[in-house]
Amino acid sequence: MSTGEWESLCDGCGRCCLVKLEDEDTGEIHHTSLSCALLDTGSCRCTDYANRHARVDDCVKLNAGNVKSLNWLPVSCAYRTLAEGRDLPWWHPLVSGTPQTVIDAGISVTGKVRSENGIAEEDMPDYMVKWPNW
Ligand code: SF4
Ligand code: SF4
Repeated sequence: MSTGEWESLCDGCGRCCLVKLEDEDTGEIHHTSLSCALLDTGSCRCTDYANRHARVDDCVKLNAGNVKSLNWLPVSCAYRTLAEGRDLPWWHPLVSGTPQTVIDAGISVTGKVRSENGIAEEDMPDYMVKWPNW
C-alpha cells in the first residue's frame, strides 16, 4: 500500500488526537474531551501534520505493524477495523463518498472537544468521558 493509500484510510474523526489519561495503578486508559494542542477542533485535522512527531512527544505514527497493539485506538478507527478483518462501515468516506457521514454517524469529535491548551494537568480528569464505539 502506498503512503497516499494508507493516509486515505483515515476517516478524519480526530479521536486518536484526544488526550488520554492512564491510571498509574491499573494501567487503565481513560479518554477525555480534550484534544491535543495541535488539533484543529473544527476540522479535526492536525495543524502541523508534517512536523507532528517533532512537536508532540506522544504523537504515535500508525503503521501496519503497530495498529493491533494500540489498545487506545477506537473500535471505529479504519486502521483498527481493517487490522481486525472487518469491513469499513457505511459512514467511512471511502464508502460513502463524503466526509460528512463521519459527522452524521457521530464518530467525528468535531464540536465535541476543546483544546488541552490552558488546561492544567491536575484538572484534566474533570474532562474524562465515555465515547461511543470506542
Ligand atoms: S482514530 Fe483512526 S480514523 Fe480516526 S483520525 Fe485517528 S487514525 Fe484516523
Ligand atoms: S500532533 Fe497532530 S496528529 Fe499528533 S496527536 Fe496532535 S493533533 Fe493529532
